[in-house]
Amino acid sequence: MKLHEYQAKDLFRAHRIPVQNGTVIERADEIDAVSLPYPLVLKAQVLVGGRGKAGGIKLAATPEDARRHAAAILGMSIKGETVRRLLVAEAVDIAAEYYLAFIVDRGARALSAIASAAGGIDIEDVARTAPEKIAKAAVDPFLGFRPFHARELGRRLGLSGALLGDFVTVATALYRLCEGEDAELAEINPLAVVSGRLLAVDAKVIIDDNAVFRHAELPTNEEMTELERAARAGGLSYVELDGDIAIIGNGAGLVMSTLDMVAHFGGAPANFLDVGGGATEANMRQAIDIVGRKPGVRVLFVNIFGGITRCDDIARGIAANRPALPLVVRLTGTNEDEGRRILKDAGFDAFVEPESAAQRAVALAGGGA
Ligand code: GDP
Ligand code: MN
Repeated sequence: MKLHEYQAKDLFRAHRIPVQNGTVIERADEIDAVSLPYPLVLKAQVLVGGRGKAGGIKLAATPEDARRHAAAILGMSIKGETVRRLLVAEAVDIAAEYYLAFIVDRGARALSAIASAAGGIDIEDVARTAPEKIAKAAVDPFLGFRPFHARELGRRLGLSGALLGDFVTVATALYRLCEGEDAELAEINPLAVVSGRLLAVDAKVIIDDNAVFRHAELPTNEEMTELERAARAGGLSYVELDGDIAIIGNGAGLVMSTLDMVAHFGGAPANFLDVGGGATEANMRQAIDIVGRKPGVRVLFVNIFGGITRCDDIARGIAANRPALPLVVRLTGTNEDEGRRILKDAGFDAFVEPESAAQRAVALAGGGA
């Protein structure tokens, strides 16, 4: 579960990691009641990165600026997410930008500290263009991340004196936060030098979904898209991806292998929906609506291996809610003959082999070899 910057900064405050004073507003006219000294920085609170580049972060020197920017940012869409909250904070003069994070490092089977003197930009970009600028250290879970580890890491960034002292304080606190809150990522980018001290100008925290239940005190954030919410409400499990082939299947294993097959033949899944075992005609009708509503979908691929789920129910669902998109069906198993007859009457053929069906779906989407 991702936290918003303002929520992550509340955790930072609790762990004594220095952050700017700030407040959150939801309507542009609330800006007039904000009693912070100018200049201010206005920051869109969305759960996607790169807000700065997307125009979601603005400096305001005057109340007029602040009103104008607040009106522009609230309601704008950043990578598909509508901005509903704005963090208004005291702007600072930044002399240098560092990067610091703790992540669950599966390779190291531990938390790892990652730090860089090239902060303020995407760490992925730094990793690609100048990997030598990234310092990394796996943390021994029994020993923890001690001040001497932090000093060693800070020295590798070229820090000394008061800044090194600050770095030790911030890094050990960020480690405690990451471990204590069961975060899979706790990131400060930029960790900025302001008036000779370190300050967390941005904050990103992702709580391990499997540990959220242990943290009743944390806020809960809704990360689902509108279609994911609709699917959840209908008892269907649905996930969005970036391609153009919509996939419906029954059972998680079958759906996963369908995704793999589509990718194997050069296609790109747009989403996938698992109607589950014992899917009814009504489930199927709704499934077709949900996957087909995603913008950019060009083909619908239905892969059913009938067991508890009956092929005739699936076929009736398709016949009753004829997809507007080109449709490829693979149908086999319980009540297969009846299912095929219903599909035939509705004007559809069904494949038996999933491979040929996947190839057909990819070809219809205009991809593949
Ligand atoms: P992100 O784009 O979503 O990562 O948002 P950040 O909070 O990291 O802000 C992006 C960039 O805006 C930072 O790297 C800073 O360069 C700049 N920025 C953010 N807050 C301030 C501020 O208070 N003062 C100044 N001068 N720049 C800021
Ligand atoms: Mn940032």
